[in-house]
Amino acid sequence: AAAPIVNQIAANGIAHHADWFVTARNMENVMGSWSPASWQTAEARQMPDYPDKAALDATLTELGRFPPLVFAGEARQLTAELGRVAEGHGFLLQGGDCAESFAEFHPNNIRDTFRVILQMAVVLTFASKLPTVKVGRMAGQFAKPRSAPTEVIDGVELPSYRGDNVNDIAFTPEGRVPDPSRLLRAYSQSAATLNLLRAFAQGGYANLHQVHKWTLDFMGRSPWADRYADVADRIGEALDFMEACGINPETVPQLARTDFYTSHEALLLPYEQALTRQDSLTGQWYDTSAHFLWIGDRTRFEGSAHVEYLRGIGNPIGMKCGPSLEPDALLRLLDTLNPHRVAGRVTLITRYGHDKIEAHLPALVRAVKREGHPVVWSCDPMHGNTVKAATGYKTRPFERILAEVRGFFAVHRAEGTHAGGIHAEMTGQDVTECTGGAIAVSEQALADRYHTHCDPRLNAGQSIELAFLLAEMLNE
Ligand code: PEP
Ligand code: MN
Repeated sequence: AAAPIVNQIAANGIAHHADWFVTARNMENVMGSWSPASWQTAEARQMPDYPDKAALDATLTELGRFPPLVFAGEARQLTAELGRVAEGHGFLLQGGDCAESFAEFHPNNIRDTFRVILQMAVVLTFASKLPTVKVGRMAGQFAKPRSAPTEVIDGVELPSYRGDNVNDIAFTPEGRVPDPSRLLRAYSQSAATLNLLRAFAQGGYANLHQVHKWTLDFMGRSPWADRYADVADRIGEALDFMEACGINPETVPQLARTDFYTSHEALLLPYEQALTRQDSLTGQWYDTSAHFLWIGDRTRFEGSAHVEYLRGIGNPIGMKCGPSLEPDALLRLLDTLNPHRVAGRVTLITRYGHDKIEAHLPALVRAVKREGHPVVWSCDPMHGNTVKAATGYKTRPFERILAEVRGFFAVHRAEGTHAGGIHAEMTGQDVTECTGGAIAVSEQALADRYHTHCDPRLNAGQSIELAFLLAEMLNE
C-alpha cells in the first residue's frame, strides 16, 4: 500500500511531512489539517435541525465569549492519571446521569451523586490497592443520541427529544422544536454544577472518614450488609489505625480533598466548538466544556464529524465500543484519535450486553494489544442491557449489569490485560429505574420513582452494592 500513500501525499503537497511513511491508517492525520470547525465538512449524525439559524449563530457567538469551564492543565493532569490506569496502576470510575435535566437541577442531587461516587471510589481503592480516578457524567451531560429522528405517540409524530440543551421532553409540537437559548441555560447549569463539585471535592466535605461513615449508614439499611461487612470493617480499621497514629482525615490533604473530573458525550458539536479554546501555555486546542469527552456508539463510525472533532482536541477522550465495531476499524480509529500513542489519551468504553461481551470483546482486546495501542479498557454494563418491562418502562436488571461486569473481568483476565474501569449511569437518589438489587426493585415498583430523562439509572443503594461486588471481583 506504500505507493498510493506517497502519491496521495504528493498530490496534497505535504510530502515533507516527517510522518509520511507511517501506515495507511494514519493518512487522515498526515493529510488533514484540523480546526475546531473542520468537523463541519464531515458526516454529522444525530444533529438537531435548528429552524432559526440566525438565532443559533448569535447564541454560539455569545458562548464563544464565555469563560472556559475547565482549564487545559486539568485535562492534562487527567490524561496523566488515565495513563497510569492504562498501564495497570489505577482504576477509572465514571458515573452519573444518562441525561442531566433542567428539572432535576438541584444542589441535593449534585451532592448525593457526588457522595455515592466517592463512596464507590473508597471501596474500589481499598479493594484494588490502586488509585481510583473519579469522573462524573456531570456538569454538561445533556445531549442525547436517539434511535430515530421522530417519535410517534397515539398516532402523533413529533421530533424526538434530544436532551434539555436542545428541546423539551414534553411531547408537544412547540416543545420539540430545537431552541438555541437552551444552550445558554445548559452552560450556566454546567458552570454552577462544576462550581459545587469543585467546592465539595476541595473543601473537605468528602474527607475519607466522612465518606466511610456514609457507607456504614448505608450498610445499616442494606439486606446484603453481611456480604460487605468484611471490606467495610477493614476500611474502618485502617482509618482507626491512621487516626491512632495521628493522621487526621480532616486536615491531611490526601484524605480531606480529592480530585474529581467532569465528562459528557461530545455529541452537540456546535456547542463543543464554541467552547474549544487554544491553551495559551502550549498552543494546543482543548474542549473546555469538560475534562473528558467521549464519542457515542452511534457517531464513532470512520470519517464521522465526531471523530474528526475529537481527534484534534487535547483532552483525554473516550469512545464507546458496541457490537458493530470490527477490530480493524477500531485500530484505524485509534490511529486517527491517538497517532502518537499517548497512554491515557483514549479510553475504550465497551458496551455489549451481558450475553454478548464474551463473544465480542476478546477480538478487540487482542487487536489492540497486538498493535501496542495504550488504552484504558472501561466497562459500560448499562447500554447493552436495556429491556422493556411488562409495565412498559425501559429498565435494566441489576443481575445483567453485574453479569456484564463479570464477563469484562473474565475476558481481561484471560487476555492478560488490565480491566481498568467502570462506566455507570447512576444517581445518588433513591429512584426505581433498574430492577433488582439488595432492596429488590420489582417491575411493578418501577412506576414509584421513575425520574430519568433518558435511560434507567442505578439508585444510590444499587450503585454502592455494585462497588462492593466489584471489590469482590478485583480480589478474585
Ligand atoms: C450514553 O452513554 O448515554 C449512550 C447513549 O451510550 P452509547 O453511545 O454507548 O449508546
Ligand atoms: Mn444512556
